[in-house]
Amino acid sequence: MALKILTIVGARPQFIKAAAVSRAIRETDGLSEVMVHTGQHFDPNMSDVFFEELDIPRPRHHLDIHGGGHGDMTGRMLMAIEPILLAEKPDWVVVYGDTNSTLAGSLAASKLHIPVAHVEAGLRSFNRRMPEEINRLVTDHLSALHLCPTATAVANLAAEGVTTGVHHVGDVMYDATLFVTGKAEKSSTILTDLGLAPKTFALATIHRAENTGDRQQLLAVVQFLQDRSRKFPVVLPLHPRTRQAASALGVDLDGLKVIDPVGYLDMAKLLHNAVEVYTDSGGVQKEAYFHRVPCITLRDETEWTETVTHGWNRLWKQSTHAVQRDIDEYGTGRAAYEVTRLLNSRGPQ
Ligand code: UDP
Repeated sequence: MALKILTIVGARPQFIKAAAVSRAIRETDGLSEVMVHTGQHFDPNMSDVFFEELDIPRPRHHLDIHGGGHGDMTGRMLMAIEPILLAEKPDWVVVYGDTNSTLAGSLAASKLHIPVAHVEAGLRSFNRRMPEEINRLVTDHLSALHLCPTATAVANLAAEGVTTGVHHVGDVMYDATLFVTGKAEKSSTILTDLGLAPKTFALATIHRAENTGDRQQLLAVVQFLQDRSRKFPVVLPLHPRTRQAASALGVDLDGLKVIDPVGYLDMAKLLHNAVEVYTDSGGVQKEAYFHRVPCITLRDETEWTETVTHGWNRLWKQSTHAVQRDIDEYGTGRAAYEVTRLLNSRGPQ
């Protein structure tokens, strides 16, 4: 009997991470997967496009839960996930990253004594005002298997007394980047569509609550991008939350090349050909490094400290980058296979 893995996803970065692991599950004997989509991200260009481009299996359960406050959304997810777990009886629940879907999935499973594997365990910003930090802390303390992308993540868990089931597997997002970059270079037409030549533009993303929840903060970030756009065009695929915030807070985005959120192939093409990247996204900071493009992070701290110490990233309030060096912590593009090896090696619980 194959080990049954129930994967819970809901937000854009989780589709990308799950795509890499899901492919590895399909290629590993003895594992089968059922996917649950909470519905946290639901626009076609924030969800469906990733399933199509990255060959992610169609979710067996789609909960269609989005909007509302954190408690409301997480509570509805908990109520909807529990009966699915009771019916599906998985050997493992696998959750990704740090969203409300991650928290609801790990809480529902652990209360039913189903072991949880957390992909991207151990990341910390040490800023508990970030909703993501709360989701990570709780999920890590509920999980049986901690699949860490970096050595820093392993050390963060050790500092909280979490030392069993902890493995440094590398970053499954690196696997995803390797999978799409060649394809994107061949098939994406985004540069011609936007009238841009390679290495003549910068790429920006903004979506964190700390940047979109307050007019002064959003103005400061937009002003930073507008200043940079005097050197080269700044392409800004606009997250729905940021679009809503800019309109509600009366922040105009003049001077920036604003586009709708793009699929992963177009995103890889933009990243690969950008001169610089400006972002408050966790994933995009690392992807900038994977494509060897310098990044400036629009936040006061980062979970991906090695990108800063190795000279590929800096916080926007720092004045210079450190000297560039390669980062070896993210692995060789086989992190997803390390995840499936560990799931398989523990056997049914
Ligand atoms: N991304 C994308 N299209 C976009 C913007 C981002 O495909 O228009 C990808 C990006 O390359 C990265 C992921 O979405 O892989 C990051 O998601 P997000 O920034 O929403 O979340 P975070 O990484 O901060 O958790």
